[in-house]
Amino acid sequence: MKPCHSCQSVIDEYLLDKQLEPLRELTADDFNVCADCATIVADACVECGGAVYVPRSGSVTPDYCPACRSDLIDRTGHDPGWTCSHVSG
Ligand SMILES: [Zn+2]
Ligand SMILES: [Zn+2]
Repeated sequence: MKPCHSCQSVIDEYLLDKQLEPLRELTADDFNVCADCATIVADACVECGGAVYVPRSGSVTPDYCPACRSDLIDRTGHDPGWTCSHVSG
């Protein structure tokens, strides 16, 4: 069992997998935080309309889900970060 990087409690991978279900291509193995520390917001990705993962340190909801972020890195060669550059209204 791996400890959560954020709160140091043991990660319950079953719970975390359940929580990560809306995210494409991601499983508990891709995360080093527990279900309590991983915040998922449904339908928030501007690219695919899927769920996004909010890092615990982040105060804003990301515009990209992890899958679309890595797609963008692959396509453009640079990391767009979690939010798009233009201000959305
Ligand atoms: Zn935690
Ligand atoms: Zn997406």
